[in-house]
Amino acid sequence: MSAPLSWTALPAAQYRPEPAAQDGVHWVRVGDEVLLWSADGEPAGLQRVSASADQATGLALVLQVGRSFQDEHPEVRVLLDHGRQLIVDSGSWRGLPDKQTTCWRIAPLPADVVVVDRPDPAPARQDPAILALTAQLSAPALEADIAELVALGTRHSLSEEFIRAADIAAARLTELGYTTTRPSIQVGGGRSENVVADRAGTAADSRGLVLVTAHLDSVNVAGGPAAPAPGADDNGSGSAGLLELARVLAAQAWTHDLRLILFGGEEQGLHGSRQYVAELFTEERARIRAVLNMDMIATRNTVEPAVLLEGAPLSSSLIDDLATAAATYTELRVETSLDPFASDHVPFLEAGVPAVLTIEGADSANANIHTAQDTMQHIDVALAREILAMNLAALATWLKPDEECSPAPDVFDEAVGRA
Ligand SMILES: [Zn+2]
Repeated sequence: MSAPLSWTALPAAQYRPEPAAQDGVHWVRVGDEVLLWSADGEPAGLQRVSASADQATGLALVLQVGRSFQDEHPEVRVLLDHGRQLIVDSGSWRGLPDKQTTCWRIAPLPADVVVVDRPDPAPARQDPAILALTAQLSAPALEADIAELVALGTRHSLSEEFIRAADIAAARLTELGYTTTRPSIQVGGGRSENVVADRAGTAADSRGLVLVTAHLDSVNVAGGPAAPAPGADDNGSGSAGLLELARVLAAQAWTHDLRLILFGGEEQGLHGSRQYVAELFTEERARIRAVLNMDMIATRNTVEPAVLLEGAPLSSSLIDDLATAAATYTELRVETSLDPFASDHVPFLEAGVPAVLTIEGADSANANIHTAQDTMQHIDVALAREILAMNLAALATWLKPDEECSPAPDVFDEAVGRA
């Protein structure tokens, strides 16, 4: 019952995608692969036939956490496997073409778009002030913080151990000089909490607000709430990364306000971030310049160290800043996607707030997450440190250092010399 369909996947270098379909041939690019397809000369045929359940045929785009969609639906034929993103033959998909769970989402494949980009921006000139900041990032401190969270055994949102993790994080942030609060949140029938830490910027008025976020909770999906859920990578890495950024950023004054948030209830469906965004006052929401979310930053799934920057069109300038920071200050290979899914950046984007997720490259290759095997053994702190260096460099530009307005004498002299 499939519509006439022919497709081919080839390396992107061999195909220059045109902005519009030509001769009934459509394309999507996913990382370094391009999928081409035609439907017997019907230019938009597949998009149309994919749009209703009784004609479920053609191509569909899947976003998944881990391998959750493939584990649940081994019968669905995968045409292009990019890990977090899959293009599947939806003729073999018997459910609705628009369906989602908290772990995966399937929708008709859009035509003639880039699903995952591989930007290669030129490195900018290195800023000595940013180099000095990134030099303060400590891999041993990061590793020790992840290990301390892992040692709790679980950080299930409704567990005593989660509260203990929140105690540890809140005490650290308070000690670093942040004003720390712990608003209660609802997770299903129970209560959990977020940890929110604030540090005021120095501008007298019109201060913007920059958010750094990560979820503190962990989960063991198969084992249930009482099972071990060490959550070293997901998301001890992002939580410890937030504490490490907190430490380095606290050492100097910034123009704009900084807020760090560790969310609870992420694994049960983004409860902490959804409630946080829903309760934001309009003026407060309008002050947010950027939300930088970290979820899984410390497992190396690729030969080259890699990161995915995932946002939406409204956060594309943040993504550009991060990609440039990666090229300038790190060895990271960057991929980008404007199709946000399944982490705490999503509620912000849905509310029109510019947000971006930073996550290890090829995260779906990490089969340990959400199990008792997400342990220190699989943690690569060098990768996490690279991702933190990228994030720190971008944060420094968003927060703006509080600078005295005296001209730097050497630059002045140089200019005079040239004249
Ligand atoms: Zn996570």
